[in-house]
This record gives sequence, C-alpha cells and structure tokens, in this order.
Amino acid sequence: MKVMASLIPRPGLRVLITAGANGIGLTMAQAFHEAGARVHVCDIDTQALAALPAGIGRSVADVSQEGDVDRLFREAAALGGLDVVINNAGIAGPTAGIEEIDDEAWTRTIDVNLNGQYRVAHRAVALLRESQGVLINLSSVAGRLGLAYRTPYVASKWAIVGLTKSLASELGTEGVRVNAILPGIVRGPRIERVIADRAAKRGLSYAEMEQEYLSRVSMRRMVEPTDIAAMALFLCAPGGANISGQALSVCANVEAL
Ligand code: NAD
Repeated sequence: MKVMASLIPRPGLRVLITAGANGIGLTMAQAFHEAGARVHVCDIDTQALAALPAGIGRSVADVSQEGDVDRLFREAAALGGLDVVINNAGIAGPTAGIEEIDDEAWTRTIDVNLNGQYRVAHRAVALLRESQGVLINLSSVAGRLGLAYRTPYVASKWAIVGLTKSLASELGTEGVRVNAILPGIVRGPRIERVIADRAAKRGLSYAEMEQEYLSRVSMRRMVEPTDIAAMALFLCAPGGANISGQALSVCANVEAL
C-alpha cells in the first residue's frame, strides 16, 4: 500500500464512541462519519444526541451505569460488530483541595473516567478480537503530569494510561491494539469552565489564568478538537497498524500544568 493511502482508514469501519454528542467525541464522530465509517455514539445529553447528523447511530447511556453500558452494546450491535471503540467519556471532577473533596465527588469522577472505560473495554474486547480492532482511551496530559486541586481527575487520567498499557500487553497477541490519546488544552467550552473554576480558586481573572496555562505550553497555544480526531483516525488507518500500548500526547507540548 502506498504511504499516502495508508494514512486514511478504510471505509465502512464500525466505530463506537462514548460521549460522542459534544466536544471532542462529537468531532471524532463527525470525522469518522466523513471518512466513510459507520458510527454509533452514546451520551447522557439527549438534546445533543438528537441533533447529531443523520446516519450516526445513537444511544442514551451513562458509562457509570452498568445497565446503560449493557444496553449501549445491544443497540450498537446493529453495526454487526465493532472495529474501533473510543472510550471518550470523561468529566472534569471537582476543583478543590484534597481536604475539601467529598467522597461523592471523588467516587463520581473515578466512576465515570476510569470505571466507565473499564465497563466499555470489558464488553468490547470480544468484538475487537473478532475484527482485529482498535481500542482508543482518552486520557489527558494530566495523565503524565500533576495538577494541584484536580486530584481525582489527574488520578483517573494516570489510571487510563495504566489501563491502556496493560490491555495492549494482554490483547496484542490476539491482534487487538490499544492506545491512549492525551489531549492538551483543547479549545472549547469545557476548558473555559476549567479555567474559570481555577481562576476563581486562585483569585485571578480569566485572562490571567488562561495566560498562565499557555505559558506552560511550548507552542503557547491550545489544540483543536480536530487535532485529536486526526490522531484517532490515524490510529485506525493502515499506517497506524503497528502502534499499540502508547500514550500519545496531542498537546503542542504541555510542559507542566
Ligand atoms: P465535554 O465536557 O465537552 O463532554 C463531552 C460529553 O460527555 C458531553 O456530551 C457529556 O454529555 C458527555 N458525558 C458526560 N458524562 C457522561 C457519562 N457519564 N456517560 C456518557 N456521556 C457523558 O468533554 P471533552 O472536553 O470533549 O472531553 C472528552 C474527553 O477528552 C474526556 O475524557 C476528557 O477528560 C478528555 N480531555 C479533554 C481535554 C479538553 O481540554 N477538553 C483535555 C484533556 C483530555
């Protein structure tokens, strides 16, 4: 195969994306759809699910609920199998010092961000084994750095790297590839909320806080949701066929948080 052709996934890939109705998940769903894939997404935002482009399958499902994830897989079975599963659902969790975080906020963050990815992987593996498929887990640059006042999120995102590397070892001999994408500061409403929360915590203005964030990025800029989607597409293209067990940062080189 020519190198240029190897950069594009084959048409007809069967793709499941969690939290695909907004943000990075939506951008990935649109990108795979445009690349000729058959895409099914889940989300808890019913309005945003209803607004998805025609042709994208959808389920209302919360990845923290076992029964929802079971139903998601029953509904996604309409694709007749899965070649790609993208574990994208993740919440920011509380912005608070360790003594102020309560048990409920800690548990909720871990339950969505880590246990949710486990629940999806647990059900996806048989299908991916069959298709010699690809599992992509969304971590974060917070999965390779520390960040004060965001302990539950950071702990969950480091755990995703461990989940990814272990599954890549476990499933590699069976032809299943597993990788993590670590987005940096991705432009969009989510990061605006995070910066605003952190600014309030630190007694800074939004602009000052944003400046501080970017001062730790070598390229002094945010990345776009399309940059993350491009990495996901490449990992599922023939050119990505020998990439597994990696924690791939797409972040303009975030040096610290
Ligand atoms: P987002 O906050 O924009 O939310 C995306 C979607 O997740 C929403 O549609 C929401 O309804 C859905 N969702 C929330 N909880 C859910 C649940 N329990 N089950 C199913 N769906 C649920 O998120 P985003 O910024 O697009 O982030 C996507 C992933 O990328 C997350 O795992 C996040 O941690 C990671 N990430 C994001 C950034 C960033 O700057 N945006 C940076 C690093 C990593």
